[in-house]
This record gives sequence, structure tokens and C-alpha cells, in this order.
Amino acid sequence: MKRNVKSKCHTTRKRILLFLTACCCFAVMFIIVHHLGNVYQSSSPRQPAPVSDTGASDTETNSSETHTPAVSSDADETSWCLILANKWNPIPTDYKVELITLSNGKSVDSRIYPALQKMFDDARSHNIYPIVASGYRTTEKQQSLMDEKIGEYKNEGYSADEAKSKAETWVAIPGTSEHQLGIAVDINADGVHSTGDEVYKWLDENAYKYGFIHRYPSDKTDITGVINEPWHYRYVGITTATEIQRQGVCLEEYLHKVN
Ligand SMILES: [Zn+2]
Repeated sequence: MKRNVKSKCHTTRKRILLFLTACCCFAVMFIIVHHLGNVYQSSSPRQPAPVSDTGASDTETNSSETHTPAVSSDADETSWCLILANKWNPIPTDYKVELITLSNGKSVDSRIYPALQKMFDDARSHNIYPIVASGYRTTEKQQSLMDEKIGEYKNEGYSADEAKSKAETWVAIPGTSEHQLGIAVDINADGVHSTGDEVYKWLDENAYKYGFIHRYPSDKTDITGVINEPWHYRYVGITTATEIQRQGVCLEEYLHKVN
């Protein structure tokens, strides 16, 4: 009987001990898990803030840049890149340009920048080294270019009217230049690694893939009103540029068909 009571007591103590041990284990595990959770949380990297800098300063000179801006999809392209500006169609007075400055101080509309950058990057990867010789121009700048050209013809002996009309085949009348839209660029060779002919040939064959067109081809002078300018490229978006290249038409002809 005594032995039975003793044995019962022993079993109860054992159970209590087991219960306490289990409680301790549970408490220790809880503390460890909680602690690890805190450590993990505090060492997890924060979500990076959206980067809005386009890195426009690299367009001209830096061939080793790492970022590759995406070419905007045609779904984003709207009428802004299909505006017709020529001597018969002045730029609308409410037209708004959104400028971004390149590393050599030239400016372009920020909406064409990703495509322009991609085109330059790809050209360089093919050992073609273009530069933006002229981008956005104010009306005042366009006027001073016109005055300069008229002056040159006057110096050659032409009358004021003759000089003006001759100058207008070279320089767009202020208020009608695509450079005032900010979506056209004059592209030259860097003069060190590439020649002008190499750059113009590459652009002629490839620019449409980036949404740019050779705006004033030699066989369309009577329609565009401008003589051949192998350096002048105008952004119209990839879909339109591809169609214009495929059909062998100029922007005036393309828009006439579309409308
Ligand atoms: Zn131009």
C-alpha cells in the first residue's frame, strides 16, 4: 500500500516535470522564432524608390553606359509625334514641348529620348559613332539661322527676294521647323571614329527600327519643300517609321494616305 502511494507520487512528479519541461521548450522556441523574425525583418532590403532620372547626359559621349531605356511602345504614341510641320503647315501655337538636355547642351523632347538613346547605343555597338549636332530650337534661333542664310545669298549678289527664297530651301521658315517641335535631330558623325557617310548610311538602313525617319529624301523635295538632308531625322514612332520605310514615301504622303 505504501509502495503504491509512493509510486503514484513518483508518477505525478514525473508528469509535472515533463509538463514543465515541455513549457520551457515551447517558451524557448517561441523566443527564438520571434527573435529570428525580427532579425530577418530588419535586415530585409527596402523596396527601391522608382528611378525617374533618364540619364540623358550620356547620349552624346558615353559609350559605356549601363542603362538601356526602353523604347516607348507604340501604344503610348499619340498624335504628338505625327504633327506635320512644313512651309505650308506651321506649328500649332498651343504646341507644348517637354525638353531634356543632352550632355553637349543640345535639347530634345523627353518623349523621344529613350528611342534616341537606344539608337545611339546600337549604332555604337556596330562601330558607328553619331552625335546630335542640332536638336530643339527656339523660334529666335530658327530666325537667326534664316537671317544668316539670307545674308550669305545677299553676299553672293542675289536680291533680297531671291536671297530669301533661296534661303528657304535650306532653312525652315521660323514657326515651321521640325526642330521647334523638339522631335527632330540633325545627326552627324563624331569625326573621329566615323565619317558622315558611314553614319548617314547606318541611319538610312536602321533609324526606322527606333521610330525615326529620314525626313527629307532627295526624291521627295517637291513634296517636302526641303532639299535632301541625310542628317535630319524626325521621330514618328516605330509603326509609322516602319510603314514609311516599307512604302518608300515621305511623311506628307503617308499622312495624306492615312487621313
Ligand atoms: Zn534639321
